[in-house]
Amino acid sequence: MRVDKAAKGVLSINLDALSNNYRRLVKQANGSEVAGVVKANGYGLGAREVAACLRTAGCRSFFVAHAEEGMILRESLDDARIFVLHGLAEGTEKDIADASLIPVLNHPDELRRYATLALTRDQRLPTALQLDTGMCRLGFSAREMAAIDERDLEAIDPVLCISHLVAAEERENPLNQQQLDRFEQRPDCLNDVAASLANSSGIFLGSAFHFDLCRPGVALYGVNPTPGYPNPMEPVVTLSAPVLQVHEVNEAGTVGYNATYAVPAGGRIATVPVGYADGYLRSAGDHGKARIAGEIVPIAGRVSMDLITLDISALPSESVRPDCMAELIFGPDGIDQVASAAGTIGYEVLTRLGTRFARRYTRSGP
Ligand SMILES: *Cc1c(COP(=O)(O)O)cnc(C)c1O
Repeated sequence: MRVDKAAKGVLSINLDALSNNYRRLVKQANGSEVAGVVKANGYGLGAREVAACLRTAGCRSFFVAHAEEGMILRESLDDARIFVLHGLAEGTEKDIADASLIPVLNHPDELRRYATLALTRDQRLPTALQLDTGMCRLGFSAREMAAIDERDLEAIDPVLCISHLVAAEERENPLNQQQLDRFEQRPDCLNDVAASLANSSGIFLGSAFHFDLCRPGVALYGVNPTPGYPNPMEPVVTLSAPVLQVHEVNEAGTVGYNATYAVPAGGRIATVPVGYADGYLRSAGDHGKARIAGEIVPIAGRVSMDLITLDISALPSESVRPDCMAELIFGPDGIDQVASAAGTIGYEVLTRLGTRFARRYTRSGP
């Protein structure tokens, strides 16, 4: 049997918009190197495709979370630096070095183990170090940093020293300045090592936050790194799906599970084959919007596991038929709008989108 995957919904990823966003961030970073964060399978958009596109746009350094993500990426990227944020799980040292991945070491024991491997191989292995300046999640504390055995540092090749901002998207939050101050006071033994503090939003906090390298993720994919201000990024992702059925309401009633949405007689409901099992968050039910036949319409009632219902009563009859495409992520702030309807952040919307859709990588031009 031939099955058309597009019958389930189409996730389009505009690679031109992705490259434009990369260049936009390079301009904003004003001379600092701009890396690409492609953890969680490129924020759900396909790490291999995203990284290849960014590589062509000039990106030379990439960040993943797990060593395994790095190894997969290494197969398609032989001439770029790949940093592994989660550091050095015990027993993975050799594999990481063999795949030419750069571990971001997060505590003294990791440094000691990698230094030992470097000495055994008589090879100064490229390494990054993370300092904790306030996230309290990963990274050397100030005390651990001060206690470092310099021989361990000399055994490896420290190429980058990073820290991570807690609230960069809140421009006025005093934690930004506090973390910047702490990062600037990093120990002397790291003075000659390139430094990196800013994620997407951090790039927009001003040049003091740029250092040698910036590490944007979410802004590359079109999410607004400056909430409350206009989105400087281009939309990369759209999600659309064909209408399965247009349901004519004969008698006033309700739509969907738990009857949360009332519909009068004469109303019309369009049903679309996308649900929370596809990554469209259930909490966007009754709040989210879709676009169909050029008009914005509300989601009617709960998001089901595999279906969403749209209230198209306000549209001219006959304007929506089965197989008409409904857009579920659309417009300049599509991801942020779904996130706000679902009471979450764009990061979660993106990374939930999963693998059930037909993925199409597109270009803007003809
Ligand atoms: C995920 C991550 C980033 C990218 O953050 P965005 O907010 O998506 O730009 C940068 N640095 C670290 C350490 C991260 O974990």
